[in-house]
Amino acid sequence: MTKLFGTNGIRGIVNKDMTSDLALNIGKAWGHYLRQKTKQPSVVIGTDARLSNDMLKSSITAGFLSVGCDVIDIGLVPTPCVQYYVLKRSLDSGVMITASHNPPEFNGIKGIDADGTEFSKQTEEDIEEIYFSETAKMVPWDQVGTHSRNTEAKDLYIKGLLSSVNVELIKKNSFHVVLDCGNGAGSVVTPEILKMLGCKVTELYCTTDGRFPGHPSEPTPENLKDLIATVAKEKPVFGVAQDGDADRAIFIDEKGNYIWGDQTLALFAQYFIEKHHGGIVITPVTSSTSVSDVVQQYNGDIVFTRVGSPVVARAMMEKKAVFGGEENGGLIFPDFQFCRDSAATIVKFLEILAEKKKPVSSLLQTIPSYSLVKRKVSCPHDLKTIILGLVKEKQTDDASIDRIDETDGLKIYNSKGWVLIRPSGTEPIIRVYAEAQNLKDATNLAGCYENIVLSLINKKSIES
Ligand code: MG
Repeated sequence: MTKLFGTNGIRGIVNKDMTSDLALNIGKAWGHYLRQKTKQPSVVIGTDARLSNDMLKSSITAGFLSVGCDVIDIGLVPTPCVQYYVLKRSLDSGVMITASHNPPEFNGIKGIDADGTEFSKQTEEDIEEIYFSETAKMVPWDQVGTHSRNTEAKDLYIKGLLSSVNVELIKKNSFHVVLDCGNGAGSVVTPEILKMLGCKVTELYCTTDGRFPGHPSEPTPENLKDLIATVAKEKPVFGVAQDGDADRAIFIDEKGNYIWGDQTLALFAQYFIEKHHGGIVITPVTSSTSVSDVVQQYNGDIVFTRVGSPVVARAMMEKKAVFGGEENGGLIFPDFQFCRDSAATIVKFLEILAEKKKPVSSLLQTIPSYSLVKRKVSCPHDLKTIILGLVKEKQTDDASIDRIDETDGLKIYNSKGWVLIRPSGTEPIIRVYAEAQNLKDATNLAGCYENIVLSLINKKSIES
C-alpha cells in the first residue's frame, strides 16, 4: 500500500482493509502531524451510524492521545456538523468516521482541516509520509492527551444553519416535506430542523441504523422508490433524501419526479447569481453545461475546477464565490460554511420556494437540460498519463473541435457538446463522460472517444 487517502478520505471493508490497527496508526501519524504545528492540538471526532464506528473511533482516539493530542467526541452527527464544530470552536482538526453512501460493511475516515474544509491533498500527503515512515513519536506519560465528550455540537450547528436563512419567511408557508434520511446521520438533525421551520414532515427511515434497513445509502432513483411513491401520494412541496453522512441531498419534485443533482445545482446557481446580480459559481469540470448556461444568462462567471469537493470549497474561498457544488447533490453555501451540506441545501431550497412562490417543477422548467453518458475503460495505472497525451495529440488536426480544457483530464468541446477523458485517481480505469443536447449525440460522442482510448491502450499494451 503506498497511499491511504482516496478521493473521499480513507475507505475500506471493516476488519479487512479498514482495521483497528490502521485507525490506531493513522491517529498517531495525524496527531504527530498536528504536533509539528501546535504543542497541544485539539481534535474533534464524530461518526455516522455504522456498526463499526465505536471500534474505529476508539482506535484512532488512542492514536491521537498517545502522541499528545486532546480529543473531543461529539458522537453521532452528520459530516457537516463536525466541519462546523472545528471552525466554530477553533480546533486544529476534525475526524469523521464514515463511508458516506457505501454499503454497511464499509467504513472510512475523513479528515477536516482547521478551516472546516476537507483535507487538502497536501495535508493527506504529509500525514501519509509520517504513517509510512512510522516516525510518529509517542509522548511521555505526563503529556498523553485528554479525552472528553461533548453534546453541544448538534445545537451549535442547527443554530448556525438557521441564522443563515429567513426563518420567519419559511415558517409562514407551513411547507410539507417528505424526508428520507436513509437511516443515516441526517436523522439526528434534519427532522428537528424542518420542524423548527414550521414544516409538516413525513419521515421515511429517519432513525439511525448502520445496517441501512430502509434502502442502500446512495440516493439513486432505484433506491428512492419509497420516497418517490410517498411524494406522489402525499403531494408535498418536495421530497428529499440524504446520503449516509448527510453531506449530499437529492430531491423529488412535487409530482414525484426524481431530480438529477446537476439540475438542482443549476437551479441554485441561477438563484444565487440572480440574487447577487452576478458573482462567481464554482463547480468541477464534470458538471453539466446547464450550470454554465444559467450562470451566464444572469451575467455571472463560472469557474470549473478539478474533481473533488475540497478543491471546489477552497476555490470558492479564494475567489469569494456566491455558490458552488458538485453534480452529485453536494452543494456548498459560503454564507454558512465551505463544505457540502445536505441540511443546508434543504433549508435553502425552502427559502427559494418561499421567495419565488412557485412549485419546484415550474422552477426547473427554466433550467436547460442535457444528456450525459458515462463510460469507463480499463487501463493500467502506468499507462494512464501516456494514453491521455496520445488522445490529445490525435485532436490537433481535428477541425470539428472548438477547444480543449486540461483542468482535470481532457475536456474536449465540439459543436455537439463536450467529452471528458479523465483517468481515475484510485482505480485502473479511464473515465469517458460525454454531454450533448440529446442522448443520441451524447452516446455517439462517448462511443467515439471510448473507442479512441481503447485502441490506444491496446496499441500501447502490444508495444510493451
Ligand atoms: Mg457523503
